[in-house]
Amino acid sequence: VKQVDNVVLDTLKERLKEIFGYSQFRGEQEVIIQNILLGKNTFVIMPTGAGKSLCYQLPALVTEGMTIVISPLIALMKNQVDQLTAFGINAQFLNSTLTKAEMTRVKNDALDGSLKLLYIAPESLTKDENLEFLKRVKISFVAIDEAHCISEWGHDFRPEYRRIYGIIENIGNLPIIALTATATPKVQQDIRKNLQMEEAETFKSSFNRKNLYYEIRAKKDTKKQLIRYVRNNKGKSGIIYCLSRKTVEEIAELLSVNDVRALPYHAGLDSNTRMANQDAFLNEEVDVIVATIAFGMGIDKPDVRFVIHYDVPKSLEGYYQETGRAGRDGLEGNCLMFYSYDDIQKLEKFNKDKTVTERDNARHLLNEMVAYSTLGVCRRRQLLSYFGEYLDKDCGFCDNCLKPTEKTKVQDEVVLVLRAVQLTEQRFDGDHITDLITATDNQYVRSYEHDKLDVFGKGLEMNESRDYWLSTIRQLVILNYLEKDIENYGIIKIGEKGLNYINDPYPVTLHKDHNF
Ligand code: ADP
Ligand code: ZN
Repeated sequence: VKQVDNVVLDTLKERLKEIFGYSQFRGEQEVIIQNILLGKNTFVIMPTGAGKSLCYQLPALVTEGMTIVISPLIALMKNQVDQLTAFGINAQFLNSTLTKAEMTRVKNDALDGSLKLLYIAPESLTKDENLEFLKRVKISFVAIDEAHCISEWGHDFRPEYRRIYGIIENIGNLPIIALTATATPKVQQDIRKNLQMEEAETFKSSFNRKNLYYEIRAKKDTKKQLIRYVRNNKGKSGIIYCLSRKTVEEIAELLSVNDVRALPYHAGLDSNTRMANQDAFLNEEVDVIVATIAFGMGIDKPDVRFVIHYDVPKSLEGYYQETGRAGRDGLEGNCLMFYSYDDIQKLEKFNKDKTVTERDNARHLLNEMVAYSTLGVCRRRQLLSYFGEYLDKDCGFCDNCLKPTEKTKVQDEVVLVLRAVQLTEQRFDGDHITDLITATDNQYVRSYEHDKLDVFGKGLEMNESRDYWLSTIRQLVILNYLEKDIENYGIIKIGEKGLNYINDPYPVTLHKDHNF
């Protein structure tokens, strides 16, 4: 393990001020930086906008040698390099857009030690000639940005990311700092394993974005609703996400003819147009950018006031990351999504050609999306619960809090569900528990002899539907009476709160689902 001067650690704050002009570290930035400076592997999980970049930029500047930053997109690299250059820092990227002369200059700067940060995509990193070159450079550590791209359980898996570890090993035994805004435990586990850094210290900050307002509406008269919404937010910056390039074009056009300054952004546009449209948005020549999910990763526009999902996204991870681009400055941020089950079915069709595992995974992600959209429980509680964080009360700042669906107080129902989980020894998922209490005739229930339990079919006697029980189980998870083991096929377990409840029950408020 490398030893770092105490002097360096002590003066971090001064350097922060000197180089970036900030007078304070945010959240755990300082300890994260210290950790990587001590040569330890470091895993950073923070929501979008929390300030992850600084966690590798500052240590890159106070150590000897050059830092390699692995980044998935050219746009993202360009953005960061531009910012760092503006701070007077020598940062460059290495990718296929460079001319031969530019490439030579970058390599010379790296070799003579003047280059502090080198941004590179995994595809370039794995090229032989780059590998040979990197072996000749003095390197301090490797930062892996958007590290969720490593995980096939994430929402934008990039196979080349899985080869990074081998390359790093080849270059030298370098400390790694991996950073992501994806909070699901499964993705995290996958990242650690792939980077062989199971021992790495993890810094996870809360994913609660208190200034964001979450709202979901039925996808009906959507264009009218959209125009009205954007007009009511006239002059404010906003992003509208659509699933297909065609819809992006159509909506951008629709807004333009309705006097909204809007431009499209998707991978089908040539790179000059894409760059120009992005710049027009960043420089506020237009208010609204209509885009596929190709837009936004690493874009740092602090005053985006609304993010609209015109189509339902593929996963809650994606949704959370995209909505996270609103209100980065801590001020107003409105997140609106239009939901319809048709969209879910459309998304399911995309999975036809996938392998069985991929399809199961995609279906699981979509189920979570459906549940989030239709449950009447506080959106923030749902989101945070999905990311493994428990919020002990409603947020008061989402559509479900401000315009609640019908509420009922129940007790016997809760006891029934909790007892069903307890009696089956906490080894089954929500579907199985539902099958059991609704006496659904299937081989699993029978093969475990769950049809002999006293809770078998009790849910039917209470005259409630299968959907009711599924929703109840989900709500009890969010309220922490039950726990869902995401790394373990979504098995439902019972926590301390649930066990106490069985012994001493009381009325619990449940919400009716939306019927979008
Ligand atoms: P992330 O990568 O986590 O999405 P960024 O690294 O892009 O977030 O940071 C978001 C914003 O916060 C940027 O504008 C950045 O300059 C700013 N920022 C980061 N750290 C600090 C700090 N310590 N003080 C003030 N602003 C900061
Ligand atoms: Zn709420």
